[in-house]
Amino acid sequence: MTVMGNANEMMIEFDGRPSNEGFARVAVAAFCTQLNPTLEEVADIKTALSEAITNAIIHGYEGEVHKIRLKCRIENRCLYVQVCDKGKGIEDIEKAMEPLFTTKPELDRSGMGFAFMEAFMDEVRVESAPGEGTTVHMKKAIGR
Ligand code: ATP
Ligand code: MG
Repeated sequence: MTVMGNANEMMIEFDGRPSNEGFARVAVAAFCTQLNPTLEEVADIKTALSEAITNAIIHGYEGEVHKIRLKCRIENRCLYVQVCDKGKGIEDIEKAMEPLFTTKPELDRSGMGFAFMEAFMDEVRVESAPGEGTTVHMKKAIGR
């Protein structure tokens, strides 16, 4: 993607391990400080990011350790976040995004991850194909 005008981008790639979740949360929080977000806005972003990363680890890679790519972009006082895995993918995205839908009830998942992402961010869009992986795109306006 080309960076134009006032846009600012970063990308990191890390092993999909639960122990890296904290690192990813702090990285996105540090990146977005340039927008002077409120503590609440930062907390919202971290919560949404955690849900997407947990999903990549648990559902995408099903416990195997593979890379997760996190891309962040700031443009016009909006933060754009992408969480990308190359895991098993989602067959029915619309269904997966319904509140309380989970394919892993045996792991005590409540099926609320996407609902939280949608509650805490302004936009959530999911791109996924079975066998190819999943990318979650999220957008949040800061300071309005
Ligand atoms: P919770 O997030 O409440 O612990 P959950 O992870 O099952 O439960 P969601 O985060 O809303 O709920 O995800 C719904 C479903 O979408 C998952 O059960 C899973 O089937 C599918 N899913 C979500 N993210 C991915 C992903 N990265 N790769 C493959 N499947 C996914
Ligand atoms: Mg989840």
